[in-house]
Amino acid sequence: MKGLIFSDEPKNAMEMVTYLRGKMDVDVISTENKELVEYGAATVYFYSDGFVDNLSKFLAGHIEKNNYDFIFISSTNTGRELAGILSYKLKMKCMPEIFYFENKENITTKRFFHGGKTVVEEESNFKMFTVSAGIIEAEKINKKSDVKKIDLEKSNYKIINVKNKESGGTDIRNAKVIVSIGRGLGSQENIEKIMPLVAVLHAEISGSRPVCLDYKWLSEDKQVGLSGKKVRPDFYIALGISGQIQHIAGIRGSKTIIAINKDKSAPIFEECDYGIVGDLFTVVPELVEKLKN
Ligand SMILES: Cc1cc2nc3c(=O)[nH]c(=O)nc-3n(C[C@H](O)[C@H](O)[C@H](O)COP(=O)(O)OP(=O)(O)OC[C@H]3O[C@@H](n4cnc5c(N)ncnc54)[C@H](O)[C@@H]3O)c2cc1C
Repeated sequence: MKGLIFSDEPKNAMEMVTYLRGKMDVDVISTENKELVEYGAATVYFYSDGFVDNLSKFLAGHIEKNNYDFIFISSTNTGRELAGILSYKLKMKCMPEIFYFENKENITTKRFFHGGKTVVEEESNFKMFTVSAGIIEAEKINKKSDVKKIDLEKSNYKIINVKNKESGGTDIRNAKVIVSIGRGLGSQENIEKIMPLVAVLHAEISGSRPVCLDYKWLSEDKQVGLSGKKVRPDFYIALGISGQIQHIAGIRGSKTIIAINKDKSAPIFEECDYGIVGDLFTVVPELVEKLKN
């Protein structure tokens, strides 16, 4: 069995190769990244100056020529657009946003449904999939892939201006310990009250969607959840986060989840390994004292 992985983000490609390499031989097409050859793909193809027009043309030809059994496209903005174009061009149905794939007797996939409230497990004869980011922690193996460069045709698109999103520094997807804040923190000024906990744990800080998108207490790249980042730390400490399913979708890969919430019926207590019912402004300083000692 042979699969093709496409991702314009090398990090997602690394995760997808790690996930799929035991299930089939895979080739990867991505933007240049020297580490990508260390994850077990047969051949890694690098491209530059790729846009949906020249990429979709190249990919359609490459897929037809190489008889891949399955096509896995990372669910980035570019990936989703490409999947639509390729599905039409190749007359191949595409299943979106999977986070689980197995091909034993049948092709079985899983994806979130109803805005993340449920998980559907489906059997199908689909051959093309878009894949959510963060399905697994990428792991290198002791074997290097062949590397080929792709010469894409000139695109009709032209970048006029690039404006980077405001970023809060490090990538929370790589953090071992995360202190995450929710609306329960009350205000941006209160962040300084939980910083001693962040410091004593050498943690990264992240937040729920309202905190990052609506109130902008943290930058957008710190949002955890279904529409944010999927994190996999050893410890995820949720402060004043209710634990709605869309938030939980981003923390399922955490090894240990600890929650502090003043409402004992908050859904986060169904999901956490350790839960403290209490006011975070009382509990956090006590915790810091204990941790310092
Ligand atoms: C399509 C879609 C995608 C979404 N994607 C995401 C996503 O990626 N990430 C995400 O987070 N959300 C996402 N959401 C939003 C999600 O449904 C919730 O609205 C959001 O997660 C709630 O954020 P919160 O827990 O910070 O706030 P709330 O739900 O308001 O919870 C605040 C909690 O703080 C507690 N609290 C208040 N004061 C204190 C105190 N002093 N001490 C201790 N506890 C206190 C309260 O008891 C409450 O449980 C999405 C929604 C949709 C529809």
